[in-house]
Order: sequence, then structure tokens, then C-alpha cells
Amino acid sequence: RFITFEGGEGVGKSTQVKRLLVRLNRMDIEAVRTREPGGTPKAEAVRAFILQGRSESWGAGAEAVLFAAARYDHVSSLIAPSLNSGKWVISDRFHDSTRAYQGLTGGVDDKLIRGLETLALDGHQPDITFILDMDPAVAFARVNNREIEKALAETGDRFEKEDLEWHRRLRQAFLAIGKANPERCVVLPAGQSEDALEQEIWDTLNRRFPE
Ligand code: C5P
Repeated sequence: RFITFEGGEGVGKSTQVKRLLVRLNRMDIEAVRTREPGGTPKAEAVRAFILQGRSESWGAGAEAVLFAAARYDHVSSLIAPSLNSGKWVISDRFHDSTRAYQGLTGGVDDKLIRGLETLALDGHQPDITFILDMDPAVAFARVNNREIEKALAETGDRFEKEDLEWHRRLRQAFLAIGKANPERCVVLPAGQSEDALEQEIWDTLNRRFPE
């Protein structure tokens, strides 16, 4: 099984990914936790290059191409081999982030986004994608100082530059992706408690994969 988590900043994806891993381990299901941008040493190098260097000088189009190169390595050297050996793969962000950030919000042409996707995924579509949805104003309030510091260290001035309006557009982008892919995507309200959200994710998985 290949499961991805998507959504805007501060909605609690990483927490839910970790909680899901704990549950799978308890069931003796072998699972690999990974993330994007990144996931392999080469892809992490691309992440550092784009996020730390700030990509204004590259633009969303080149960013999409660079992330696709990273994703190609991530899929071919980690995701596909793990799935082939029977492990579950849980990724904190995947191709929908490129659709949302560089495509719908960044303005990169959908044809380019799709072409890059075909190349990078090589048929490895997630079986299910959880889109964690939250009002960005609430998400920002929830992000504690430690996380803000970590994010600032990594993303440079992006947090300061991008206003709430931009994050609202990003939220709409993820919702649109969910709506356009109802067979794969499940949009869940992320404003509920972490325990309740964890349970909702688990129940959804059991319904989707009953065996
Ligand atoms: O999910 P995480 O907080 O690790 O993402 C790090 C940053 O990478 C996000 O804040 C986002 O600005 C950026 N990002 C991006 N394009 C993507 C994926 C992530 O700009 N396709």
C-alpha cells in the first residue's frame, strides 16, 4: 500500500504520519515513513537547494522540474523497491504538493505538471491520499514557536513573505485536487483533536482496505 498525506502548512501532517506508523507497527505491518520534498539523499539535496536557496530566482516552473527530478529518484530508489518487497509506504507530501504549490498556486501549466508527474511516478500512484484541511489562520495559530523557528531556518523568508491570502489559495488548491480525484483522495477536517483525526484516518483505511 502506498499512502500519502497532503495539505497546507501547520495542519499536522507529520504528526499523523508518525501516529499511523505506530499503528501499523503494532499490527506487525512493515511500513516505511518518508517525505517530500526529499526522502532519499539525492532528493533531500534538491530540497535543501530549493528551500534554503529560495527559489525566486528559479520560478515555479523550474521548481516543478527540480522537484520532479527529486521525485524520480525518490520513487525509483525508495518507494518502488519498498512496495515491491511488500512494505507499506507512507509519505508526508507527494505529487499533489507539486500540483498545489507549483501548479494551481504557482501558475505552472497543468500539461507540464502532468508530464513531469508521468515521468517521475512511473505508474506509482498512491492508493490513498489524505488531504488534511484547515483554515490557515487556525493552522498558523496552532504552529508553536519551535516549529516556526524550524520552518524559518529551512524555508528562509518564505513564511514572512507569504500572507494569509496566499495560504488560503493553497488550501483551495488542495480542496480542488481532492474534488477532482475522489477515488483516491479523502479530505479530512484537521481542526479536530489529534486523537480524533488519527482514528478517522485509521477507520478510513480499514474501510478502504478491509483485509
Ligand atoms: O511539508 P513541509 O513543511 O516539510 O514542506 C516544506 C516546504 O516546502 C513547505 O513549506 C512548502 O513551502 C515547500 N514546498 C514547495 N513545493 C512543494 C512541496 C513543498 O514549495 N511541491
